[in-house]
Amino acid sequence: MTTPFNIPVACPDLSGNEEKYVTEAVRSSWISSQGPFLERFEAEFAQACESKHAIAVANGTVALHLALLALDVRPGDEVIVPALTYVATANAVAYMGAEPVFVDIDPATWCLDPRLIEPMLSPRTKGIIAVHLYGHPADMDAINEIATIHGLWVIEDAAEAHFARYKGRSVGSMARIGTFSFYGNKIVTSGEGGAITCSDAALATRMRILRGQGQDPRRRYWFPIIGHNFRLTNVAAALLCAQLEHADSMMASRRRRAAQYAARLHDFVDMQPVAEWASAVPWTFCIASDRVAAIKKALTTNGVETRPFFVPLPAMPPYRLCRTSTCPVAGPLERRGLCLPMFSGLTEAQVDSVCDVVIQAAP
Ligand SMILES: *Cc1c(COP(=O)(O)O)cnc(C)c1O
Repeated sequence: MTTPFNIPVACPDLSGNEEKYVTEAVRSSWISSQGPFLERFEAEFAQACESKHAIAVANGTVALHLALLALDVRPGDEVIVPALTYVATANAVAYMGAEPVFVDIDPATWCLDPRLIEPMLSPRTKGIIAVHLYGHPADMDAINEIATIHGLWVIEDAAEAHFARYKGRSVGSMARIGTFSFYGNKIVTSGEGGAITCSDAALATRMRILRGQGQDPRRRYWFPIIGHNFRLTNVAAALLCAQLEHADSMMASRRRRAAQYAARLHDFVDMQPVAEWASAVPWTFCIASDRVAAIKKALTTNGVETRPFFVPLPAMPPYRLCRTSTCPVAGPLERRGLCLPMFSGLTEAQVDSVCDVVIQAAP
């Protein structure tokens, strides 16, 4: 490993059949964007996310882009996006020539605050992208209700929240379209990769066509629409099939480590609240403190890698002119926030040593 840290902030868990299946894919010569692992992964992921269809794509950003293409977003349209999320959520909207409109997060979940959406709607608003931030599901019933009243579509950006649940339902199954990322630091990974979940057959077919250059499924080299190459490879899908086999144990281990962090740190720092209706998955372990600079410095000195919070997107140069709610929650949170190491191979002793350093630096 090239990291100078003794404890990295994230690390993929490839301890299952990952190597075996990748070798199988290579030996079979199915290394491109067709093959048995792709078919198996799409079927298993759809089932795991309680959706009728799953569509594997090259990464989580193109999953969002493909969803917006399928929903026929047009230049000048507006899409509600939480102020605190990874930049890809807003970039996908910008790729369409549409405009993200930013809404602050709810202090109770750190996800899009449903109470702040309505004042930001305009005649140009076409939809809402809810983000399940840092593994905690957004309040989907409240968001869907607003969408229904105003005739808007909803996309769930579940890139950071594989297998999280909301009132017993899987993320990715509660809106028109769900999107996932399998980037190297995500909960399930193929290095780069992504998927879409959807239970509307016509929409799923449209997304498959758009993923493959717009080719007519019944006539080879006939392209009735302009599509893209957003495909994933069978080699990446081999990794994903292996990841799904041990996802339950990876998740259980993340949950144990999160519980350990929470038990030791709750008197010393703020943590992402968990709503009573949420079954969150710890993607990364987030803390917030006025002493964040001292904590970060002490951790770095002790060989513990950390990650800052996302910076609220209305501050980014390309988005400065976009409409935004005031962000009294996202703004201060970003300045006080820090992500601690979280991955399934993290040991109990490692979490203890990280907590020792945090407690020392945040008395
Ligand atoms: C990681 C992430 C994405 C983008 O996924 P990539 O696979 O890196 O393209 C989109 N949205 C959120 C919230 C993310 O965390």
